[in-house]
Amino acid sequence: MITQTEIDALRHKEIKPQQLLINGKWQDAENGAEIDVVSPIDGQKITTIAAASAADVDVAVSSARNSFERGDWSRMAPQGRMRIMHRIADLIAQNAKELAVLGVRDNGTEICMAIKAEPGSAAGTFRFYAEAIDKVYGEIAPTADNVLALVHREPVGVVGAIVPWNFPLMIGAWKIAPALAAGNSVVLKPSEAASLSLLRLADICLEAGLPPGVLNVITGNGAVAGEAMGLHNDIDIIAFTGSGGTGRRLMEYAARSNMKRLYLELGGKSPNVIFADAEDLDQAAKVSAAGIFRNSGEVCVAGSRILVERAIYDEFIERLKNQAEKLKVGDPLDLANNIGAISTKQQLEGDLAFVERAVAEGARLVCGGQQLHAASGGYYMQPTIFADVRPEMDLFQHEVFGPVVAVTPFENEEEAVALANGTDFGLAAAVWTSKLSRAHRMVRNIKSGVVHVNTYGGAGNNVPLAGMKQSGNGADKSLHALEKYENLKTAWISL
Ligand code: NAD
Repeated sequence: MITQTEIDALRHKEIKPQQLLINGKWQDAENGAEIDVVSPIDGQKITTIAAASAADVDVAVSSARNSFERGDWSRMAPQGRMRIMHRIADLIAQNAKELAVLGVRDNGTEICMAIKAEPGSAAGTFRFYAEAIDKVYGEIAPTADNVLALVHREPVGVVGAIVPWNFPLMIGAWKIAPALAAGNSVVLKPSEAASLSLLRLADICLEAGLPPGVLNVITGNGAVAGEAMGLHNDIDIIAFTGSGGTGRRLMEYAARSNMKRLYLELGGKSPNVIFADAEDLDQAAKVSAAGIFRNSGEVCVAGSRILVERAIYDEFIERLKNQAEKLKVGDPLDLANNIGAISTKQQLEGDLAFVERAVAEGARLVCGGQQLHAASGGYYMQPTIFADVRPEMDLFQHEVFGPVVAVTPFENEEEAVALANGTDFGLAAAVWTSKLSRAHRMVRNIKSGVVHVNTYGGAGNNVPLAGMKQSGNGADKSLHALEKYENLKTAWISL
């Protein structure tokens, strides 16, 4: 928990201009370029970050490669690596309030959510993978008597992690922690729209004793620094979270360069299916509203399509509207507010454009749709519900990544499954029903990486988040994520 007094003591703290971290040293971009950091809370500049060039990326990759080949980290005894990763987790926890407020000033997430989802989650992720270091073994394969077959797990080398502006600490930790636990060196590129908390995390990693060059941080524009990473011939893996468009580009870059391994965690248009036999419709409406509107809908697993059985359609929309209208939107650093700011002006404009298109396509606006608190200079928007959204509409098919939900009726379970699976995405889903067999059938039939039953959201570090279809490949979290950052090497020994 964090109190309003603690928040207020941190909210105006000066933030010095931020630099790149290369080989354990903070430094400016080689050409001195910078990007202004504008807070979505009030539209004011709070500091600058360095805008790395392709040349900076090259130096950072060399630094990662050199540290890897020297074995400073890759060959350190497991207990040494565990100790440092636990120390990183301890320092994240000790600095949780500062990290959370810093992140909120950068991207507008409501503080009550940020404190749990950002430092809270990142510390847990570092601990989970720290513990895995001396508990995950190689294998001895069954063979004939005259052969010994050993399967070694080896670090791959240099991992490039490219992450988005929503939940940067949490998602950054989902990449960095398993990559480090497996013994790799890392070049991290935060989003130009939210780099500050990850830069502070890098500081913490140094303080915890991570050797220089094992974690390098390159800030700057995706089209410059991100592209240079995608095309780099000495990066072995890119672990990416972000939009489908950038994911596609990374596939092209890999094909044009060294065919590097790619893990893509992309967008979603996740269905939240409400059956008439759900036990508690009020609870379903309350959790569904949070499932789409928290962090202003800027959540990859947001339940952005609510499918409702016809028999309770009008009644459920009314309950959902009541819940949406209860949510207080405003300054994300005021604990009295439930929902904070939209991350950037450009994102807010995109969200409002979706509203205009939905109206033009004939969807029924139930509530919301407007910008809020424009006089503050910040970027705020009402929780917005559209009903009667048909599968061919833009709002049914495309990710808004804003506080806008599409509600669609269905007649029976078969139609519910067809609608749930009727987009290019497959990230998350939920089903509300009191029938056990129906719940299991829906889990089996919906094509998505997670299906919640009688809840929305929530997960632990020990379960994977793995998109299907165009929501991506690979999995963040759990021991399965560790495997992404390892090579399997067989030693076939004649005895
Ligand atoms: P984005 O694709 O615009 O940016 C993500 C990162 O890629 C940033 O660091 C950016 O600088 C970089 N980038 C941009 N252009 C690049 C290029 N040409 N080459 C290399 N890197 C480049 O995405 P965003 O707007 O920051 O994030 C929102 C998206 O992320 C949404 O689609 C959301 O659903 C998705 N997301 C997915 C998950 C998941 O786990 N599946 C989690 C969070 C967010």
